[in-house]
Amino acid sequence: MQNNFTIYNSLSRKKEPFRPLHHPFVGIYVCGPTVYSDPHLGHARPAVTFDLLYRYLLHLGYKVRYVRNITDVGHLVNDADEGEDKIEKKAKLENLEPMEVVQKYINSYLRNMDQMNILHPSIEPRASGHIIEQQQLIEEILEKGFAYEVNGSVYFDVSEYNKKYKYGKLSGRILDGLQANTRDLEGQDEKKNPFDFALWKKATPDHLMRWPSRWSDGYPGWHLECSAMSIKYLGEVFDIHGGGMDLQFPHHECEIAQSTAARGKESVRYWMHNNMITIAGQKMARSLGNFITLDQLFSGAHPLLTQSYSPMTIRFFLLQAHYRSTVDFSNEALQAAEKGLQKLMKAVGTINRIKPSPSSTVNLEPLRQKCYEAMDDDLNSPVVLSHLFDGVRYINSAADGTEKLTANDIETLRKLFNDFVFDILGLKEETISAGDEDITANLMKIIINLRQEAKERKEWAASDKIRDDLKSAGIILKDKKDGADWEIE
Ligand code: ZN
Repeated sequence: MQNNFTIYNSLSRKKEPFRPLHHPFVGIYVCGPTVYSDPHLGHARPAVTFDLLYRYLLHLGYKVRYVRNITDVGHLVNDADEGEDKIEKKAKLENLEPMEVVQKYINSYLRNMDQMNILHPSIEPRASGHIIEQQQLIEEILEKGFAYEVNGSVYFDVSEYNKKYKYGKLSGRILDGLQANTRDLEGQDEKKNPFDFALWKKATPDHLMRWPSRWSDGYPGWHLECSAMSIKYLGEVFDIHGGGMDLQFPHHECEIAQSTAARGKESVRYWMHNNMITIAGQKMARSLGNFITLDQLFSGAHPLLTQSYSPMTIRFFLLQAHYRSTVDFSNEALQAAEKGLQKLMKAVGTINRIKPSPSSTVNLEPLRQKCYEAMDDDLNSPVVLSHLFDGVRYINSAADGTEKLTANDIETLRKLFNDFVFDILGLKEETISAGDEDITANLMKIIINLRQEAKERKEWAASDKIRDDLKSAGIILKDKKDGADWEIE
């Protein structure tokens, strides 16, 4: 297996050649969603980024175990150690069991991921299903002297850890700075230091999600689940850990500290972080009214949207930017992406209509190599797309006769598109989108009215022809008194 793949490692802050620990096996862990609301644009970016990574490694021939967790407990509303659990808060608002909230939003997340052609991970572990593993990890950290218990809660001792290992490696934050910047939040007085974080929290009497432990009836801290589950499924040292840049601190910094404290070594070899999405230059936030869910994008039902955008348009749009650059959403940018995608997909159809020539006027050989070089360069999807559009130009020129392609050339292009457009970039042809369904219904209304008018003029041959032609296209008309209903055969 040829491997020139390089990854930008957020820990070393440079591109490094990718050398898996147990070639050809690769372990990937990606922080998945906290399932308490409908998936939004912010979920689409890491999903597409790590799907691209997963697809490329599979394409290169690696045996990949891709673990993407589901956070269904322990993520508190203020992302620190106080306040309500995000899921519990939603459960109280919607009058549901917390696990009903979890199931509802897992379902919508997975449905949206399928729409965007995101491959299913190998394992999707849930935090609530790994309470025992998390408790065991807390015991290990306590045993090594990097945690302490207060009033039934257990906290990670950051300054003790920092004496032996360096805390803040990933985010570049240093302890002195943290101390000065940490506000005194209510209830933080249990901690030795404000930057210590909870491994186990004692549940207050009204807290619903709770499990017994030797410390208290309580629940695990948010950061702990990823350390416990990555060790369980990928081993104490594994290849790639991914997530959004917003997770670098504190989540991933705390994961590093936990795993290192427990096992005495770094668990992750390559840290990968995708950059954020802005909307018309602003951060996406409910309070700014620019919070757009994926379902709203697909249906167009949001005041900021001038039309609906198909899942592949969103995917294509994200692939047009390198995953480490920010991406700004606007209707204009999405419409441009929609046009680009249509042009690319149209060319796929055009390949089949090119008449091969005995000789060629172009040299297609470098194109495939260039696409690999771009992917090898830290998943540079925008450059891959620019090479594929060179391919589109050759296809269109051959179709209109300005260039000549041999049968071999045509096969080369077909394989290039199959591998890069469909397999690696994960784009697919979209036949019916939400908007198209309306168009189909409107077209059928027009056709049925035309036939009705023909009947009224007693033009039976014309009316029968419409009915028979529709039938051969797989559409059955059922006559009614005032027109007809239709259904797909
Ligand atoms: Zn995580």
